[in-house]
Parts: sequence; structure tokens; C-alpha cells
Amino acid sequence: MKKIGLIGGMSWESSLEYYRIINETVKQKLGGLHSAECVMYSVDFDEIEKLQHQGKWEELTQIMIDCAQRIEKAGANLIIICTNTMHKMAEEVESSINIPLLHIADATAEKIKGKGFKKVGLLGTKFTMEEDFYKGRLIDKHAIEVIIPNSEEMQIIHDIIFNELCLGEIKETSKEQYKKIIINLAEKGAEGVILGCTEIPLLIKQEDVEVPLFDTTRIHAEFAVDYAIK
Ligand code: GLU
Repeated sequence: MKKIGLIGGMSWESSLEYYRIINETVKQKLGGLHSAECVMYSVDFDEIEKLQHQGKWEELTQIMIDCAQRIEKAGANLIIICTNTMHKMAEEVESSINIPLLHIADATAEKIKGKGFKKVGLLGTKFTMEEDFYKGRLIDKHAIEVIIPNSEEMQIIHDIIFNELCLGEIKETSKEQYKKIIINLAEKGAEGVILGCTEIPLLIKQEDVEVPLFDTTRIHAEFAVDYAIK
């Protein structure tokens, strides 16, 4: 089994899910007392969130590179970044290490293609929904068309992520707002919706809506285990 390296803490609420899903998946695949060999470097999200909203992406890139190099030195054989947003600098991180980085959008794209879907909706932070680093990869590398909520809806999604989900607050009113936005995306032609922020699956589950959902936390964590055990 390869050792899985995780860049976590963004937020720790979702890193906890990664740790749990990775270990549950290893147990399921190998049985008995098997668990994942892994290394996590977990950051202080207060610092990260401030830099994100100040637009200090070069500084953030250096922080992510530093985390990745520490994880490689600790003996990991592969790396996953446990947030969709911080894949903005995935290429820089990947080229600063000598072990593979398993990209969350590639893992998700495999699942979308597996269902035969061509057009999906994307929910995430405004960075993920508005910028090109995530959507662009889905379109250019995987030929998946991506639609996003309108700007008012994007603000709602973004604020709930940072003001509630990353603080571990799960509110019924927020769930209803998310459900409405998901339904709107389906009405605009999305065959499925990507929960493209690793905290969103804490709020929205498949049983809450009819449209197929892509839980990036679970998909990415399972993808890492498949790679580690293969
Ligand atoms: N975990 C979130 C994501 O998947 C948001 C936190 C962050 O800004 O990194 O995008």
C-alpha cells in the first residue's frame, strides 16, 4: 500500500471526512484491521482564508508548495489537496514535488464520464465557480460542459461555505437555499451537480435532491485509496 499524503485543514471539518472515508475504504477493500498509511499536514485555515479573500495567491502558492514538500519528506508516495479551491495552484505544487498529485477535478471527471453525462452544474467557493482553473480543466481535459449559478446564488453558496460549513455549522435554512440552487441548475440543463467544495457534502446529501450529485470529498478520497492499493 502506498502512503497517502494529505494537505488538510481547509477546513479541518472536511479533512476529518477525508481521513474517515480513506480509512473506511481501506478497511472495506483489505478487511480486518487494515487502515490507511497516511501523512497529513494541516494548516491554520484562518491564515489561508484571509489570504484568499485578499487575493494573495502567490503567497498561498508558496504555502501549498511548502506543505507538499514537507509531506513528501515525511515519506508519502502521493499527494492530495483536500480542497477544491486550492487546486488553483495545483500545477505549481505538482512541479515542486517528485511524487504524483491526484487532482480532484480529474477524479470527479472520471465519475461524471462514467455516468455518461456531458453537462453538469458546479457549486463551490466563488473562486472555484468563477475562475477557470477548475471549470477549464473539466472542459479542456475532459470535454465536460460546466454551468454555474447566477451571481446572487454564487454569493449565497460562498457565504454559507465560509460563515457556516467551515465552522461546523449545519443549518436547515441553508440546506433549503442550496436545494433551490441545485434545482435551478438542473432546470438549466445540468444532468448532475458537482459539490465542488469539500464541506458541501456535510450539508447536502444525495437523498435531499433528485438530480445526481458528485461529492468531491468522497470521490477524491476513494480515488486516492484506489491509487494507493493498486
Ligand atoms: N474546502 C473548500 C473547497 O473545497 C473551501 C475552503 C477553501 O477555500 O479552501 O473549496
